[in-house]
Amino acid sequence: TCGICVEKCPFDAIEIINLPSELENDPVHRYGDNAFALYGLPVPEAGSVTGILGPNGIGKSTAVKMLSGELTPNLGRHDEEANWDAVLDRFRGTELQNYVEKVIEGEVTVARKPQYVDQIPKQFDGNTRELLEVTDERGELDYLIERLNIAPVMDQDIDSISGGELQRVALAATLARDVDFYFLDEITPYLDIGQRMTAARLIRELAEDGERSMMVVEHDLAILDLLADTLHVTYGQPGAYGVVTDPKSVRNGINEYLKGYLDNENMRIRPNAITFEEHAPRESVSGRPLVEYPDLRKSYGEGEFSLEVDSGTIFESEVLGIVGPNGIGKSTLAKMFAGGLEPDEGELDFRLDIAYKPQYIDIDQPMRVDAFLASITDQFGSSYWDTEVARPLQLDPIMEQNLTDLSGGERQRVAIAACLSEDADLYVLDEPSAHLDVEQRVQATTAIRRYAENHDATVMVIDHDIYMVDLLADRLIVFDGEPAEHGHASPPQEMREGMNDFLADLDITFRRDERTGRPRINKPDSQLDREQKREGEYYYSV
Ligand code: ADP
Ligand code: ADP
Ligand code: MG
Repeated sequence: TCGICVEKCPFDAIEIINLPSELENDPVHRYGDNAFALYGLPVPEAGSVTGILGPNGIGKSTAVKMLSGELTPNLGRHDEEANWDAVLDRFRGTELQNYVEKVIEGEVTVARKPQYVDQIPKQFDGNTRELLEVTDERGELDYLIERLNIAPVMDQDIDSISGGELQRVALAATLARDVDFYFLDEITPYLDIGQRMTAARLIRELAEDGERSMMVVEHDLAILDLLADTLHVTYGQPGAYGVVTDPKSVRNGINEYLKGYLDNENMRIRPNAITFEEHAPRESVSGRPLVEYPDLRKSYGEGEFSLEVDSGTIFESEVLGIVGPNGIGKSTLAKMFAGGLEPDEGELDFRLDIAYKPQYIDIDQPMRVDAFLASITDQFGSSYWDTEVARPLQLDPIMEQNLTDLSGGERQRVAIAACLSEDADLYVLDEPSAHLDVEQRVQATTAIRRYAENHDATVMVIDHDIYMVDLLADRLIVFDGEPAEHGHASPPQEMREGMNDFLADLDITFRRDERTGRPRINKPDSQLDREQKREGEYYYSV
């Protein structure tokens, strides 16, 4: 198989991803003999947000380096000296001509938010205030700090703040600059839904404010949909070549991408569609109870943070979605189940063996992926393990790499595999979607669900990608309260009830895309938004 389908591929995958013949001799850039080649470039547009949607390793960052003048496109002639005049000749008469002229004149100024915010502390020594101070070119820094709720960490060292805080600091640092071209390489990792919506609104505000161009790579489709005006789809073969399409409307771009077929290009980019069927929410699960737990309370220190948990029952073989803002007590609950933390009130008379994938993955041993995974399970390498874990998580191509050399998405897949390879009663995965592209999210979802079913295992998945939660979960535990002050956890609820509670708290309703059934966020106060709120149906409409 091509590694995309979990089941055997019904098509000949190799044929499907053939490069369109008219492009064959015309790359914009090639890194070397038989090295990665990029065809086409996205077009920055003034006063507008341009989205880029595509797999990891397909040339998105390469494209941005060229647009920002950091890398001169060699037009495929990698053994000759690249020069911008040749590039201008190539793009004369196209949408890009103007932009390339500005790059040549050295007139384009750029701010870029890097993809892996976890790397920032390695490059910057100092506290949040010191990092942000120097970026305040538009006089809007205080506004950004307030909107992104950064004030509580202003005096903390950058190397002591969490991934979610780093993400917001990096966003503020980028948006505070005064440049022509902003490039944001993934804005959602580690942010909860409320924070994702805020980030999306800030980016839109800045685009609408003038002649600036915003370009955003994003894999959270609900947010991308809300954020972008137009969308370039990128496709090809990760690591080998990538093609950037002409801009599409966001709605069509996302739909075509999910369908795996690009209408204008007449191009199949994936053998199978990713479907968001308009399914009714899953009805109650029945199974053997794994645990029944009473009401619980836990607080840290004197009035620092307190958590109240309503009693409930967790069943074998179910996938429990856990939703709620950051800092509301989700990890605290998981730690109590694992026995590492005693509740102040309420007794847990069980000790579950818990396999835990933390939100921030820190696997930095100088060890190969295969050796690392073999040290966790003696099933490693069995055909069973290969089918259930390695293939859906696309581990084959990276087995021989060192853990320290992995990209964010690769590291995430190894961490999910490591968690599922443990022998446990309860598997807790904290934000498995972070850094995965859309296809990898769908495959990871399939792997996690199948694993629960085949092992009578119970899985708890904390995630902020609402599509992933909908695809994954049988029931939901919904947290509400005031982050960092007090939290409250509901008992496990059926999906409809849980989604309604959760989204009512956020004041967001979803409608279904007419063509694909894909959930889309309603405009606040639109007719549908008001209707659905009146009826109390925030997510499921059937
Ligand atoms: P994306 O941003 O879509 O994940 P990138 O643009 O970072 O993809 O990379 C696309 C491909 O180009 C990858 O296979 C990567 O290994 C390769 N690549 C990136 N930079 C270089 C380079 N300087 N030399 C050779 N190959 C590179
Ligand atoms: P979530 O997983 O929902 O993001 P956590 O359970 O990690 O939330 O944390 C909830 C709150 O408790 C946060 O404000 C966090 O700073 C605080 N907290 C977590 N662990 C401790 C601890 N050991 N001591 C004091 N406060 C803590
Ligand atoms: Mg990239």
